[in-house]
Order: sequence, then C-alpha cells, then structure tokens
Amino acid sequence: MKNQNSLHPLCPLREALPDTKWLQSFRRKLLAWYEKHARELPWRGTVDPYKVWVSEIMLQQTTTAAVEGYYYRFLERFPDVQSLATASEVDVLRYWEGLGYYRRATQLHRAAQMIVSAHGGTFPNIFDDVLSLPGIGRYTAGAICSIAYHQRRPILEANTIRLHARLLAYPDDPTKAAGNKLLWQMAELVLPKQSVIPRSQTATHTLCSRLPLYGQMNQALMELGSLICAPKSPDCAKCPVVSLCRTAQQGLQHVIPALKTEKNFEERTEVALVIKKHGKYLMMHYPQGVRWAGLWDFPRCELNHDVQQPDFFDYCINIKHLTGYQVVLHDQLAEFRHVVTRFKITLKVFAAETVGRKNRAKYQTEWVTAKNLDDLALNTTGRKIAGMEAEGCKSLFKNHLAENVKGTLMTHETDRADQHR
Ligand code: SF4
Repeated sequence: MKNQNSLHPLCPLREALPDTKWLQSFRRKLLAWYEKHARELPWRGTVDPYKVWVSEIMLQQTTTAAVEGYYYRFLERFPDVQSLATASEVDVLRYWEGLGYYRRATQLHRAAQMIVSAHGGTFPNIFDDVLSLPGIGRYTAGAICSIAYHQRRPILEANTIRLHARLLAYPDDPTKAAGNKLLWQMAELVLPKQSVIPRSQTATHTLCSRLPLYGQMNQALMELGSLICAPKSPDCAKCPVVSLCRTAQQGLQHVIPALKTEKNFEERTEVALVIKKHGKYLMMHYPQGVRWAGLWDFPRCELNHDVQQPDFFDYCINIKHLTGYQVVLHDQLAEFRHVVTRFKITLKVFAAETVGRKNRAKYQTEWVTAKNLDDLALNTTGRKIAGMEAEGCKSLFKNHLAENVKGTLMTHETDRADQHR
C-alpha cells in the first residue's frame, strides 16, 4: 500500500494510513452521500464566521437537538460580534441558561471583546489568531476556518474520532497520544490538496453547493459519524464507505473504537435554600473561578452530614459564610438528582429563614422578587426551583418530594450529551 502522508518514513503509524486511490474513492462517496442526506440544520449553509463560531461553541459537548432553539434566540439577541461584545455578562449568561458548561458563554463574551479590541470587530481569518481566542481549541479553529474561510484545516471531535478509528480499524484508545496523532493525520489526509467544488450529477441537496469544499468535507465527516457510524450500533448497511472500512471488513464494529476508561463519578449531597422575606427571595451570585461562575442560585452548599441526623450546624455555618446570613431550616421541599461534570449530586431543597442582620459574605447576594428571578441567569436546578416556586411553591414541592425523594429525577446540568453534535 502506497502511503501519502507527512509522517516520518520510519514511523510505525505510517502503515496505518490509506493510499491515494482509497482517499479519492472515499471523498467521492462521502460527498455524494452528504449531498443527499445532510440534515437541514440552522447553522448549515452559512459561511458567516460569527454564526459558525457561535454554533461550534454551542455544539461542544451538546447535541444538535438541544442547541437549535438556543442558536436562534442567541443570534436574535446578539446578531454580531459588536452586540455580543457590548452586552453585559449577565445578559449573555441569561441567553445561555440551561445549555450548560457556562464557561463557554463567558469565554465567547470575552472573545467577542478581544475581536473588537484587537481585530477592529472583524472575526479574524488567520488560523493562529482564531486559535488564540478564549474558548477556541484546535477543533473549533479548524471548523471555523474550513467552513467560513475555505481553508484546508482538519477537524477531530467525538464523531470523527469514532469514524476515523473505525475506518482505520485502530485497535487502541484513540484519545491517547498515539491514536490522537494518527487520527489528526487521517483528518488532514482526507481533505483534498486541491480545492474543487464537486458538481455531482445526482445531487439533490442544495446545502453543499453553498459551502466551500473543505467546509463540506468536514461537515460531511461529522454527519456520517453522527447519523451512520453511531457509537453503539453503526448502520454499516447504509454506510456509503462500507467497502473502504477496515472495521466493517473485519466485523469489529463493537470493539472499535476501544472504550475509554469509565468516567468515575463522585457522589455528593448539596442543600439549596428557599428563603423568602417580604415577597423577595435571597439569591447568591457565583464569582469567577468557581463552578457556575457568573450565574445566580438559591443559597446552596455541600452537605457533609446525613440530613436525617439533625445536625445542620456546619451547614448553617457554610451558608452564613457564603451569604452573610444566619439561617434556620424548616421543611424539606424537594430533592433532585443531577450530574455536573464528574459529580452526581443529590440536591435537597429546604425552606429556610434568615435570623438577624447580614454579616460579611463571601458571595454577592440580592433579595429578588419572583418576577425579577426571570431576569437572572440561573443554573438549571436554580431555574427548576424558581419554576416550582412560581407555580405555587408548597403543594408542588410536596408533590415533587413524593415523586423524587427516591431519586427518580435526574437532570444533567452540564453533561447534556457525551458526544459532539
Ligand atoms: S462501515 Fe460501519 S463502522 Fe465503517 S465507517 Fe461505515 S458505519 Fe462506521
């Protein structure tokens, strides 16, 4: 097999990569399939770098279904770099609320400000400049430059890692250094050296003709990985490149890619307080450098004690430290199970009241009316509590307690999906 890659001639990975004939056939089959089967997604067909950038950031760790509504709302409120750069962080977070991984929103905001200050408000078109923006890594920079600027830049994310690993029948963990290096080589190799817009005789789809070739190729690779070469049950019978796939030839679809080590979740218990006084709720604001930075929440902290044992002393000290208020707890109102990054959290929600005056606090706090809760950017469980409160707090809480106290409700605060797109 004649290899055409840039690896050193003695590199053992060199043999794993396909030859020119394979590559030409692969590109032709992939693009013909994409022209017929590409989904109509809101961000498809655009070459506006701002829109491509927003969609790519939203799609990180998040499914297309979850992103669609957010994408429209976000672009309606922040239609260009300038409007995003001049918005307040609270406003940006409010439009991101519920999408998870809130750091993406604050970095997007910071990057917009950098584009205005360093690039005169025009999205940069030099790969290294794009890469130097906050929140943009090699994958995202490659996606933006290939889709918006027609540059020959490879991409590698969850779908294409799986697809390339299977095409090559790569037997080891593709996310480790050796596999990662090989797959980046593969991702680059599949992009043609010459940029030619294909005009398929059988094309029925109009999306492809609106996109530059490298953007099409990269999107087609991700689409094939997402729709056909699925993690658990790849639909090889419908795969346009089955005749080129080493994994399919060897019947190894269920062992390739090699599974990553299972994520170890850490169980923890947290308590959130609904403290209402004179029609207003006590809310706290997470500062930079902590989980949910920039968002608001009902006062919350980790609980080390079993709440069945009535020893809340440490807990009340923690809340006092965070909010400046001494609190007294009343009934438990609800219980949620949710996942945040590597934590499986049991969140116990209590009614509570403050006692005495406010002391020095670690976090900023505000007393907020129910109506104004709508204007704050809350984390997902904070919004759930606010929603339950709005719908008639106590009876509803009790119903939820009955339903959820056995841990039946599980929300994924930030781990909406384990795969891109
Ligand atoms: S033939 Fe099957 S395993 Fe190979 S790329 Fe296609 S869907 Fe994936």
